[in-house]
Amino acid sequence: MSRKAKTNGSTALATITTAPSALQITRADANARIKTRALELYHEARTQRDERIRTFEAEYGRADRIDNSVLTDLQRTQARLAAIAARQQRANATGGEPKVAKFVDQIGTMIGAVSAHLATERALELFAPVQQADYVGWNGSGVGPKGQDDALLAGYEIVDDPLGAQNAAPTTDEDGEVCLHTEIEPYEDELSRGACVDCGEEFGLRASPADAEDAAEEEPAAGGVPAESIAAA
Ligand SMILES: [Zn+2]
Repeated sequence: MSRKAKTNGSTALATITTAPSALQITRADANARIKTRALELYHEARTQRDERIRTFEAEYGRADRIDNSVLTDLQRTQARLAAIAARQQRANATGGEPKVAKFVDQIGTMIGAVSAHLATERALELFAPVQQADYVGWNGSGVGPKGQDDALLAGYEIVDDPLGAQNAAPTTDEDGEVCLHTEIEPYEDELSRGACVDCGEEFGLRASPADAEDAAEEEPAAGGVPAESIAAA
């Protein structure tokens, strides 16, 4: 690689003294940065939310649905309160404690509702219609939560398309929908980056064919393989 040496120092000095105090960028470039940052902030917010939920659920159990662990927790609490109620009866003086006998009954009502729900859910699952969206997703270009077959690509090594996105491996959102990122549009002002048309996820893109030829001329060792542009973060 050859770089042109600076012709003389005085030219560079003159450039510096007349340089404006703030860095200049075009409005188009500014807008592209705003767009990229907004997407970053969105992904950060989503990551933080996921993190908070994970922390909560690690301590208390799943909060996205009523499952068997809720029933177990209620039964355990009921058993404890029933024992406390028995002691309170015997002691005949609670020492300021609230009488818990009625709570044992109330938790019994909750247990009834929760176990009825779980039984109904099981029954519904048994007769559930097969929904297309569960398999092929809602947007038509993705995969639904039930459409993933992990064994499908076992034994394959997945290589990047020469001119495709670098890191466009399918991603799963919180509802289990998988986006295959089939259409990634480069940013108008930053062709080395782009966003998925369906989900908005951002990707580093490989150089365009024209850039690739230039790169191949510069570095014959690359054997005409398109040079990678900015690596995705
Ligand atoms: Zn996508």
